[in-house]
Amino acid sequence: MARYTEAVCRLCRREGQKLFLKGDRCYTGKCAVDRRPYAPGQHGQSRKKVSEYGIQLREKQKARRYYGVLEGQFEKYFVMAEKKAGITGENLLAILESRLDNVAYRLGFGMSRPEARQLVRHGHFTVNGKKVDIPSYLVSPGDVIAVKEGSRGKTKIKAVLEATEGKVIPKWLDLDRNTLQAKVVTLAAREDIDLPLEEHLIVEYYSK
Ligand code: SF4
Repeated sequence: MARYTEAVCRLCRREGQKLFLKGDRCYTGKCAVDRRPYAPGQHGQSRKKVSEYGIQLREKQKARRYYGVLEGQFEKYFVMAEKKAGITGENLLAILESRLDNVAYRLGFGMSRPEARQLVRHGHFTVNGKKVDIPSYLVSPGDVIAVKEGSRGKTKIKAVLEATEGKVIPKWLDLDRNTLQAKVVTLAAREDIDLPLEEHLIVEYYSK
């Protein structure tokens, strides 16, 4: 399965902001964005004027990197978003939010999206009672996501749940921490998504 293999902290430095790809390390003084707040590479510290296209491109790349989505898949999501009624940029974010790896992260079933994705891949979750190990699986309102029965006692799952205890769950998801089951109440609305993204720039990027 295709995935990022680049050092993830370089992605944050390239975007000039924290993308929170490494769990608790992102909240410590070891964060590379805090330690080296400039782009990686030989020319990382040089300042140059960024074109309108460059700004739109960076916003698209930032969104891709937040969610860990490769170019081709991201384009497919954009086409899906365009076909839906409503505002394309908001539709796009709602689609990205409904990926199973993101939902697992939002529910505190992973300390970062990459960790949640790995746990999905390892088959620790069910959707409507059936094991789903595809991180890009898109959930729909009414779906029930749960930690698989046989995975609940696993050390890794226990550690993640302990670390994310008290995490604020977005209101479009209804989590029961006792049963480790959550229902998708509705698709995420723009105000539910806390990422500093300017989605209209992504729409402009693809509208050229
Ligand atoms: Fe990004 Fe986290 Fe690495 Fe900081 S520690 S650069 S937020 S992945």
